[in-house]
Amino acid sequence: MFESNQFHYTDGALSCDQLSLDGLAATYGTPLFVTSKKTLVQSYRSFEQAFADLPHFTCYSVKANFNLSVIRTFAELGAGCDVNSGGELYRALQAGVAPEKIIFAGVGKKPQEIEYALQSGVLMLKVESIPELRSIDRIAALQGKTASVAIRINPNVTAETHPYITTGDSKEKFGIDEGELPELFTLIRQLKHVSLVGLDMHIGSQIFDPEYYVAAVTKLLDIFESAKSLGFAIEFLDIGGGFPVTYDPLKEATPIEQFARKLIVMLKPAGVKVIFEPGRYLVANASALVTRVLYRKRNHTGKEFFVVDAGMTELIRPALYQAHHEILSVTPHERTIVADVVGPVCESSDFFARHREIEAAEEGELLAVMSAGAYAAVMGSNYNGRLRPAEVMVDGSDVRLIRKRETYEQLVQNELLS
Ligand SMILES: *Cc1c(COP(=O)(O)O)cnc(C)c1O
Repeated sequence: MFESNQFHYTDGALSCDQLSLDGLAATYGTPLFVTSKKTLVQSYRSFEQAFADLPHFTCYSVKANFNLSVIRTFAELGAGCDVNSGGELYRALQAGVAPEKIIFAGVGKKPQEIEYALQSGVLMLKVESIPELRSIDRIAALQGKTASVAIRINPNVTAETHPYITTGDSKEKFGIDEGELPELFTLIRQLKHVSLVGLDMHIGSQIFDPEYYVAAVTKLLDIFESAKSLGFAIEFLDIGGGFPVTYDPLKEATPIEQFARKLIVMLKPAGVKVIFEPGRYLVANASALVTRVLYRKRNHTGKEFFVVDAGMTELIRPALYQAHHEILSVTPHERTIVADVVGPVCESSDFFARHREIEAAEEGELLAVMSAGAYAAVMGSNYNGRLRPAEVMVDGSDVRLIRKRETYEQLVQNELLS
C-alpha cells in the first residue's frame, strides 16, 4: 500500500490530511486533483534542511505545477521561481513572487518574452545560445538596461533516466557546449548591455544517482574557475533540478540527503551562492488525481478493465514516459483483480496502468492515482473536448478550491464562427 505523506486511510476511506477523498469528490466532482498543502511545505522544508550547510537559494521550477496557489505556497516559504516562458513569468508574478526572485529560462525565448522579463526586473535570464545572447543585449539596450545573465552549460552528462527527460547530454537541444564558451566569454565582454552573473546547468529529471550531479558539477566548477580567471565576477552557480521522488514503492528514490552530502562538499569552497531549481521533488507526492470508476468490463480473452473518468488529458505521464503511478481504491477492498485502468479518451495510450493488481472497486467508486502533483495538471489538454478538472488544496480540515472545473463555454470561448 502506497500511502504518502498526508494521504492515508482513516475511518475506512483514503483521506488527504483530515478530509476523505470521497467527501471531496462529492463536493467538487471528478476528476479532481487534490493537493496537500502540508506535503508541499514538508518537501520544501526537507530540501532546505538537506542543503542547510550551503549558502543557497531555492527556486521552485514552476513548470512542474504552475497552479497559482502552489506557487504562492512556496513563495510564502521564501522560495524564488524558475520560469520557462512569458506565461510562466506571468503566473509567478500573479502568484505574488517578487521579480528579483525569478529566473527566466527557456531554450527559445521570443523577443517579446525577453522584453517582458527585463521589464519585470527578473533576477537573471539564462542564455542558451550565442544568437540569444545578442538578442538579450539588443533588447536590454532598447530599455536602457543591463541584463543579468547566466550561461546554461550543456555539461554533456547523460543521466540515466527516461530518454525524454534527460537534458544534459550533447545530443540534446539544451544549453551551450563547452567548446563555444571561449567565443561566448569574448562576446559577453564586448556587449554593453549584458552582465554575466551566473553559470547554470540542468541535467534532467528524476535522477536517482548523485554521481551524475557530481560529474556535471565538476565540469561546472572547472568552467567557473576559467570564468573567474578571465575576470568575470560570477555570483551564482545554478545546479538546476532533477532530484528524484518515489512513484513506485518498489523503486524508492535516493534520499535528498545523499545528493546534499556530495554536492555541499564540492560547492561550498566555491564561495558563491548556489541556486537549486527543484520541481518534481517539491510537488510530485503532494497531489492525487481522484477519478470515478465508470464501468468495469472484461473482453473475450478475460482481460479486465476499469474505465475511469480521468485520462491522459489529465495525466499523460503513463502514455508519454511509461511512467508508473500507484492506484489506490478510496474505499479499501480485500479482493484484488488484475486489470488495466483506462480513461475515456480515444487513444490506446490512454491508460494509467496495465496488467496491474488493483483493489476490486465497484462501478461508481473512486480510485486515486497517486503522485500526480508534478507534470500532471500542467500537461493537461482539451483533447477530445475534455474539460480541465477542478483542483483543491487541503490543509488539515480546511479545503480550498484552487482551480475551477472548466465549462463547455470556456472550451469554445476563443473560437469564432465564420
Ligand atoms: C524542468 C526543469 C527543472 C525542474 O526539474 P525537476 O526534475 O522537476 O526538478 C529545473 N530547471 C530547469 C532548467 C528545468 O528545465
